[in-house]
Amino acid sequence: MTHIRFNIPPRTGREQEYLEQAIQSGHICGDGTFTMRCEELLEKMTGTSKALLTTSCTQALEMAALLSGAGPGDEVIMPSYTFVSTANAFVLRGARIVFVDVRPDTMNIDENLIEPAVTERTRAIVPVHYAGVGCNMDRIMDIASKYGLKVIEDAAQGVMASYKGKALGTFGDFGCFSFHETKNYSMGEGGAILVNHPEDVELAEIVREKGTNRRLFMEGKVDKYTWVHEGSSYLPSDINAAYLLPQLEDAEKINSDRLRSWNRYHEGLLPLEKAGNITLPVIPDECSHNAHMFYIKVRDNSERKALMDHLGNKGIMSVFHYVPLHTSEAGLKYGEFRGEDRYTTCDSSRLLRLPMYYGLTDEDIDTVTDAVKEFYSEQ
Ligand SMILES: *Cc1c(COP(=O)(O)O)cnc(C)c1O
Repeated sequence: MTHIRFNIPPRTGREQEYLEQAIQSGHICGDGTFTMRCEELLEKMTGTSKALLTTSCTQALEMAALLSGAGPGDEVIMPSYTFVSTANAFVLRGARIVFVDVRPDTMNIDENLIEPAVTERTRAIVPVHYAGVGCNMDRIMDIASKYGLKVIEDAAQGVMASYKGKALGTFGDFGCFSFHETKNYSMGEGGAILVNHPEDVELAEIVREKGTNRRLFMEGKVDKYTWVHEGSSYLPSDINAAYLLPQLEDAEKINSDRLRSWNRYHEGLLPLEKAGNITLPVIPDECSHNAHMFYIKVRDNSERKALMDHLGNKGIMSVFHYVPLHTSEAGLKYGEFRGEDRYTTCDSSRLLRLPMYYGLTDEDIDTVTDAVKEFYSEQ
């Protein structure tokens, strides 16, 4: 029987070789050669002033929250339709979360609902580039500069994607990438923080190294290495970086392979959208996406359940995610929804993600689209 997995972590071939080199080098702690090489490639890919590898995107977000200065009494605006880490990072600083609605076409924060949610307590805006499709960063940066707000981009899903030709993660003060095994580029668990203003780099390096000026010391810029600021340990082992490096070296190849899959799904499922059965994702003109996911929206939650069962019976794994944070136990405690929930709850309950990974074959994509079509022909 067919078995089509939802995700297979990316691998491009040189992982073993680089891991062996890392082991042989005798230096496997953080900030080794492979970490530096990954950071240089990320800087080249994105144009940011400094990329620092972290142990996860969750940790990159926590670092960014700490660096943003958000604390008790502050409010941070973000979509409710996101992963828990987006909110947790700021809750850990004592800030309160203000959730606003998403746009139905991209499931990104609705840029027109941010300004009405701003108060004198607002400290930061956290756009999440859902599915690797950019939020309206022009509008978001305008609001941020008008009210003097920090912007932290949750670009966990946005590696190699851009808005108006500029890499996601490079618009705000900080951008956060994920290299979890479910993401486009992976080191098992891992991430990176993009520090977009050169004047923030020194403090970011201190915070990442347990609040010490170790990097400055290593570079000979201070003669003693001491505790100078709040911080934690956010740096991954060089072994993890050795696993990530080959994928970053082959980033174009991975990206174009995923886009091919995405386009084939889109083409294959278009007749169902035209027939009014499903809704397909929209890529706004100013966005160049990275095919992080392929999702469809069906009529409602019970249809989603039935379609998932139908696909499951054919050996095809499909998944959904994100219970809107404002309805969750912690979300109710640490945040509030501001404005009307027109799309967050409704659309998240009818969104279904289809298998998507580097190396997914045309044949498997056709099997999936045929199975979806069959489901609707039987309705
Ligand atoms: C995956 C993801 C994260 C968390 O990434 P980790 O690297 O697993 O910590 C955060 N935000 C979004 C939007 C994500 O998709």
